Amino acid sequence: GSRAAAWATLAPDPARWLGLAPQASVVDPAVELARRGAVMAAAQEKYYERPPQIERGWRELLIDTRGRSYVDMVNNVAVIGHSHPRFGRAVSAQLALLNTNSRFLYSALADLCERIVATSPDPSLDTVLLVNSGSEAVDLALRLARIHTGRNNVVALREGYHGWTMASDAVSTSAFDNPHAAASRPGWVHIVDAPNVYRGRHRGAGAAEAYAADLARLMDEAAGPGADLAAFISEPVLGNAGGVMPPAGYLALVYEQIRARGGLCIADEVQVGYGRLGSHFWGSAQQGVVPDILTVAKAMGNGYPLGAVLTRRDVAESLAGEGNFFSSAGGSPVGCVAGLAVLDVIRDESLQQNADSVGRHLSGRLAELTERHPLIGTVHGLGLYQGVELVRDRDTREPATSETAAICERMLELGVIVQPASERQNVLKIKPPLCLSRESADFFVDCLDEVLSEGW
Ligand code: PLP
Repeated sequence: GSRAAAWATLAPDPARWLGLAPQASVVDPAVELARRGAVMAAAQEKYYERPPQIERGWRELLIDTRGRSYVDMVNNVAVIGHSHPRFGRAVSAQLALLNTNSRFLYSALADLCERIVATSPDPSLDTVLLVNSGSEAVDLALRLARIHTGRNNVVALREGYHGWTMASDAVSTSAFDNPHAAASRPGWVHIVDAPNVYRGRHRGAGAAEAYAADLARLMDEAAGPGADLAAFISEPVLGNAGGVMPPAGYLALVYEQIRARGGLCIADEVQVGYGRLGSHFWGSAQQGVVPDILTVAKAMGNGYPLGAVLTRRDVAESLAGEGNFFSSAGGSPVGCVAGLAVLDVIRDESLQQNADSVGRHLSGRLAELTERHPLIGTVHGLGLYQGVELVRDRDTREPATSETAAICERMLELGVIVQPASERQNVLKIKPPLCLSRESADFFVDCLDEVLSEGW
């Protein structure tokens, strides 16, 4: 459309900023690779009927091989934006200087750990272990909790997602769930209902207490996990459920119950953390809780594989003498420099503040859209972490699943990348780079308005 064409002119060529030779356009390389079977089919997520062949990015824009640009409303990895010159320069310089096995100690590693500790939601969380991904951070967090407590059971929320390795998959039940994960879920993992006040059993006043009471009852059943409890893990705001916020006070009550039974509380901040909520750097702080272990990844490296576990010193020290905990590339020099550049840009470009102000603007505009379009059941979340839940009927809340998929296809045609979330795949997830401009947010809402007006 004409709007997308106008956007294309706003996107400069990042290669020029970096002083690189422009890349030659390739014709559908992914299709070519897939044809030859070199890319495992299961590894290719297919969101669209005709997926765009993305070649480069700029800020919150993605640009395909034909030069069309799209506002990227879903990229919670490229938190400082695509192709940030400062990030590119820092990473390239370090690559040219040294990248090595992380058994060595170098200043960038100490600097990054110190900087993460400085963001800590509480002074008790004061030590960091660097890894390569969110799944790895979650695996390590679960293992830390089990070693520290000397106990086995882990409680996780339905509709949560924590990763794809065997342990992180075992505590996940979101749309990424699969029969194999469920069938092979180890006995020490216990899944309980998520505090979803739009769809769950408890919806009105007192929902926080009611969900927490359900959890306590489950833990204390005869074969319940309460007796041999190592940990509770949850996202402070449930990302893959569509940005679902627990009712106020729920997590504080749950953390109290878990601690009363001797367990540790793990906050998986892989999606929600790093300033995305605007009001707070960490989701646990926004929810008013202090976890014992916090996991982070995605945003931390802006696309360079990097993750971390932030925890209390006494918890971390329980690993001593318990084996050899080592990741060849976790905390590599390039990873650390990437991590530092991301934190510098978030600070110097006030990206958390931008998430707050653009997020508020977005919330206001989406509320106005909700009044005019009955297909919108509710809008979850806050800051640049929101979910537009689509329903066929506001009373029955029947999920508009096929409509959500079709709306995403139409949005792509208009120049917006937005994708479905939740077990029912009926929530438009909004997790753009934190540099999202007010104009891009408006462009997204205008396109959604136009598409919803087409009649569904
Ligand atoms: N935890 C949460 C909350 C996530 O959203 C994800 C990824 O989507 C992970 C963990 C796993 O992270 P990774 O894909 O980096 O292994």
